[in-house]
Amino acid sequence: MAAERWRNFSPGDLSVALPEVVAGDVAAALDQSAAVTAPWARMPLPERIERLHAAQQALAEAKDELARGISLETGKPIVEAQGEVSAVVAKIDLTIADAGTHLTDRAVAAGPHPAYVRQLPRGPAVVIGPFNFPLHLGHGAIVAHLLAGNPVIYKPSPLAANVAGRYGQLMAPHFPAGVFQLVQGGAGVGEALCVDRRVRAICFTGSVPVGRALARKLAADFSKDLALELGGSNALIVCADADLDQAAQAAAEGACLTAGQRCNATSRVIVERPVAAEFVPRFLEALRAFEPGDPLLPATRLGPLISATAVERYEKLAAAPAGAWLLPGRVEPMVAGKRGHYVRAAVIQPDDDGRAEAESFVPIVSLYPADDLDHAVRLQSATPFGLTASIFTRSAATFHRLGEQLEVGNLYANLPTTFSPSTLPFGGWRDSGNGHPGGRDFIRFTSREQAVQYTGFASP
Ligand code: NAD
Repeated sequence: MAAERWRNFSPGDLSVALPEVVAGDVAAALDQSAAVTAPWARMPLPERIERLHAAQQALAEAKDELARGISLETGKPIVEAQGEVSAVVAKIDLTIADAGTHLTDRAVAAGPHPAYVRQLPRGPAVVIGPFNFPLHLGHGAIVAHLLAGNPVIYKPSPLAANVAGRYGQLMAPHFPAGVFQLVQGGAGVGEALCVDRRVRAICFTGSVPVGRALARKLAADFSKDLALELGGSNALIVCADADLDQAAQAAAEGACLTAGQRCNATSRVIVERPVAAEFVPRFLEALRAFEPGDPLLPATRLGPLISATAVERYEKLAAAPAGAWLLPGRVEPMVAGKRGHYVRAAVIQPDDDGRAEAESFVPIVSLYPADDLDHAVRLQSATPFGLTASIFTRSAATFHRLGEQLEVGNLYANLPTTFSPSTLPFGGWRDSGNGHPGGRDFIRFTSREQAVQYTGFASP
């Protein structure tokens, strides 16, 4: 939980202190949100769209500044951060395109009386964001709620407070005061915002334990909409007929993007035993391209972890003796003369069929040889998560047979587990989410449906 005031240090260069951040005033933000609910809901959709286009323009003009801000504060390599900001800008058009489908009333022809289904705004929304995509993930839900006519309070991760604060400064002026607010803070602020009875919708992106605790807290208010976008322990399955070079590249990329701190990171590789000996050296070679480096440099592909706590988690996992290290891990406290939270990618072959109950969220991959494809499915299912999985095979039949058995919200053939374009919904099954996928079409959760029938009017 963040304090009343705090200061972040750049994880790639701990000598760089970012400006102090002050926690927001929760009560004032909630009051303001409630006060603007009715006028914002009444504003016609074309006007709401116009305002979002103006905000889009401001974000597009600040692309470089925002990308640098993400990289500096979270350690995400600059090239990835630029990708995140481009996705932020593009998201507005994608969401506007979806508004026609999901915010429009629809007539119902058959039935005892004339009838239609009407979409109505839900009311004040709270969006809680994680540190690893500090703009893009919150932004998707923010844009959808604003379009639907719901005022939004965004509480970003305290670990990315400065860059998120800048995003808030760019967004807020394009809406009537109180319609979009950014409130800084940690767990206490997040919880206080979510439990307020006036808040009618929440989009929470974060870890399973926090999401679960929040769902418990809100259980009694069952008409408050809660979208949970949670963690994963994602597997890449290498079948015996796979293109092994391609699979190795994808596994390395999935393990190392954002230093393994992506919900869809590849934390497990399951490889059919007959090709395991050929695959492993290719995988280790592919990982060599991910040398820890200064996240602000365009050539860097593996940035630092977010915090000292994350490095401790890495050290604990790297010290676990239950297996053979194919590539041992190492913490690198200094990289290119800069002190930071740097670590190396590592690969272990665990002794057991490892039930990973918790996300690793660091670039350590567990590699499991599978006796056959049924065994591969059992290994893939051995965790409580269900976010993404990728199957490397040249056979469409194998892909479909296996794919049908995998309990995941996002399924890929011959692509990294991190391949999640904004053109598709993105959500987890099992412990990874609660059936409100974010990404494309999230807007369908931002309004309430009302079934309307009418008869007996004396005049039209
Ligand atoms: P986190 O759960 O620690 O925090 C997420 C957010 O919740 C932060 O803003 C935090 O301040 C806030 N929070 C903490 N306690 C709260 C409470 N009691 N009530 C309300 N808000 C509270 O997660 P993190 O470390 O910032 O982000 C990483 C996690 O997010 C990983 O588990 C990752 O898998 C997940 N994630 C999921 C997706 C997805 O789309 N499924 C995407 C990105 C990240």
